[in-house]
Order: sequence, then structure tokens, then C-alpha cells
Amino acid sequence: MYVRLPFDELKVDESKKTRVAYFYDRDVGNYFYGTGHCMKPHRIRMTHSLIMNYELYKKMEIYRARPATNTELTQFHTDEYIDFIDRVTPDNLHMFEREQIIFNVGDDCPVFDGLGEFCKISCGGSMEGAARINNGSCDVAINYAGGLHHAKKSEASGFCYLNDIVLGIIELLRVHPRVLYIDTDVHHGDGVEEAFYTNDRVMTCSFHKFGEFFPGTGNLNDVGIGKGKYHAVNIPLRDGIDDASYKSIFEPIISKIIEWYQPSAIVLQCGGDSLSGDRLGPFNLSMRGHANCVSYVKSFGIPMMVVGGGGYTIRNVARTWAFETGICNDVILDKELPYNGYYEYYAPLYELDVRSSNMTNANSPEYLDRILMNVISNLDHTKHAPSVQMNEVPRDLEDFGDIEEDEMDAMDTKGGSLYSRDKLVQPGNEFYDEDDKNRNERNIDIDVDVRVNGNGTSSNGTGNGVHKNVLTDAELNEIDHLNQEVAA
Ligand SMILES: [Zn+2]
Repeated sequence: MYVRLPFDELKVDESKKTRVAYFYDRDVGNYFYGTGHCMKPHRIRMTHSLIMNYELYKKMEIYRARPATNTELTQFHTDEYIDFIDRVTPDNLHMFEREQIIFNVGDDCPVFDGLGEFCKISCGGSMEGAARINNGSCDVAINYAGGLHHAKKSEASGFCYLNDIVLGIIELLRVHPRVLYIDTDVHHGDGVEEAFYTNDRVMTCSFHKFGEFFPGTGNLNDVGIGKGKYHAVNIPLRDGIDDASYKSIFEPIISKIIEWYQPSAIVLQCGGDSLSGDRLGPFNLSMRGHANCVSYVKSFGIPMMVVGGGGYTIRNVARTWAFETGICNDVILDKELPYNGYYEYYAPLYELDVRSSNMTNANSPEYLDRILMNVISNLDHTKHAPSVQMNEVPRDLEDFGDIEEDEMDAMDTKGGSLYSRDKLVQPGNEFYDEDDKNRNERNIDIDVDVRVNGNGTSSNGTGNGVHKNVLTDAELNEIDHLNQEVAA
């Protein structure tokens, strides 16, 4: 069953014109977990600098999301936890001794200056990206400040405080009957899996190192429970997996899941700690081996959200996420790095590449075969009856649905919708230009030597070929019903 596929050069279809919405907040690189801590938000700024200097702003639309509000965050997290994250600072930490233990902040997840703001930027990007996918104004949404997959409902874990992915998926579920979550971080995507473990409207699939490795969960036999049975897929891997083996297990599993589950939206977590030479991760993927996951998932043409995640050799994370942003935009970026704000980080070769090493691959073909057979037979022996059938029909922009109705809906669900958020933006807010004050996002100022040109300024899907998933009234009622179940 397991066949080792050749790892060919990645290809893109340059005529494709995928509509990409990219979210970036220039403040994000300033947050600092502390001296010696390996999680460095600065890598997101490095990635952005590469992206801008490769001139990808000519291809995609760039937004600064409105940071998530406390109310929005409580769509997943508890009120007490959000209140704590919002208020705690290094200066008042002594007032929260009990909470520090309950909410698991301390060593791995330290309280740093601006912690709450950082979390809200991360979550805002994923929620806004999901909203843009929902209203059909992009095919791919990207938020490298997101992907913080370990955070739990009321607990920080593994450098993650708030789970932007779960919040983004909840937003997608407002419109999409079935969402597939794929996690390529070297660590198990435990926070997302746990949030939807009993739910059949979200299928989670995590590829990760397993065995004496954080967080310790994600065994092959963990498949979900109750209604969620067989809606969690875990691929436990050993050290040193290389490009060809990873591709040879990733592609058949993902294609089988998509065929079986028919998701109408996909969230792909692109943790960069599965790259060769990561400070924490023991895998051996090259930049191209990692990017093949993006390329492969994108090839299905299903609306997709790409989020960041781990990644601790930051020059390699920046390289890979920039390259993957190219893939999302149907471009293979040149090997030679353009001059950028962090050029010296890429010495001595100054190349856009992360190479595999000669480390041993502990994943034998027999081992990978066993995993593949197990996953496929779980799906084969289970009849999947999608709760809601969907038809994808191209429509004009005018047919995006009734904005008034959407607002009412949004008020009911604590203001998660793009339209309702538009109303919430305060005029004069320092983040927004006067011209943009009635919008909840804007094209950002670029803090490197380039600025957004005319191509990057339209915001609301004014291009041609806008698609939307169009549902009948009966299907919408079904989704409403399912949403109430999810909320309960
Ligand atoms: Zn990780």
C-alpha cells in the first residue's frame, strides 16, 4: 500500500491567479517571550520582509486585521481565562499566583509585555482570514501570526496562549458544513484536536513526531469519540523523516480524507519546526519538502487558510513561509534572496533554500505502510454521511447574500462576521486611516523599502470569477441547527 513516491521539483500554474488575502500586523515582531526563549515572533517580521522584497504584494492583497475582542475570544475560551490574559503583565504577575498555576503560565508560556495584544493580533488574523473565505473574497487566506495549536480552552501550553485556529474554524463553521484541519507542525496539534474531538463537522489530521516528545498525545489509535469518531486522524512519525517519505504518506492520506469527507474549507497549519535543522524538531524536511504540503493541499482548489505555528531556526522558518507564500500565489520564488531588512541572517549563501541533512530516517517503509493501512481502513470501514451537501456555484459579487441578514446573524453569534465588525471600528482609531475608518481591515503600511501599489488596494473581491458556496434554505437551516449544537 505504501509506495515511496519520487520527490520531483515543485511546479505551479502561473496562469492560475489564485486570490490570496495575506494578514500581517507590523507590531507583531516586537513582542518578546524573553531572553533564551526559543519562540521568536520576530520571525514573522523576517518572513514579511522577504515576502515584500520578493514583490509578492503585486500578487496578493495585504491586510492588517482588527485585533480580536475579548468577546470574540470567548467563543472558544472561558471568560476567566480571557480576563486573565487581558490583564496580566510582568509587573502585576504577583497578584495572579493562583491563576498562574490554573492557567499554566510560567516557564514555557511566560507572561511578557503586551501578551494580550500579541494574542489578539494572532487571533484577529485567523478570524478575519476565515471571514474573508466565508464571504468568498479570497481563495487563500494567510496568517503567519496564527497557528498556535496547543492552546486549550482555559490553559496555555507549548508557547501558545489562545487558539487562533479553533477561533478561525468556528468562524468557518458559520458558513461551511465541514472543515478539514491539517497540521504539519512537528508537534501534535492537540489543542485543535481536543476542541473538535467529539464533533463531525471538523476533521483534524496531524502529522507529528511521536514518542517521548511534547505534548505526548497524537497516537495512531486516537481517532475521535462519539459523533467525532474517525474525524481525528493522527500520523505519529519518528525522527529524520525526509521529503520523499513525508510526501508518500501525506499525499495519499490527504487525498483519501478529502474524497471521504468532502470538506468545503481547509485550514493548513504550517509549523516550521518540521524543517531540517530546527532547534526543537527532529525531522529532516527541506524547504521544498515542507512546501509540497501547501502545494498539494492547494491543488484541490478548496478555499484554504494557511497559518503559521512552531519553527525555531528562524532564518529557515522565514525562508520557508516566504516560499510557501509564493506557492499560494502560483509563483516559484527565485533562489537568490533579494536584499531585505534582515539580509545578514541568511549568510553565508543568501539563498532561499533549506536543505535536508544526512541524518538517519527512522521511519521504515514497513512502519509507514502500517500507518497508512490503518488510516485508510478506518475511513474505508466507516460510511461517511455528510450532514449537509453543498454545491459550488459561481455567482456575481452582488449575490453575496443579504448584508442586513448577515449582521443579524453575526449579532447572534457575538459579532463574528466581517460585516458586523465593520460597524465596530471606531473612527480615529490609530490603526486606521480616515479613508478606511468604516472598514475593519486595511492595506498595511509596509515597513520595508516597498509600498503597496495599485494592484494591492482593492479589498472586497472586486476581481473577476468570484465564487461562493451557495446553499438552499433547507441547507442553511441545517447549518444553523448544527451551529447550535457546536455552540452547546
Ligand atoms: Zn511545534
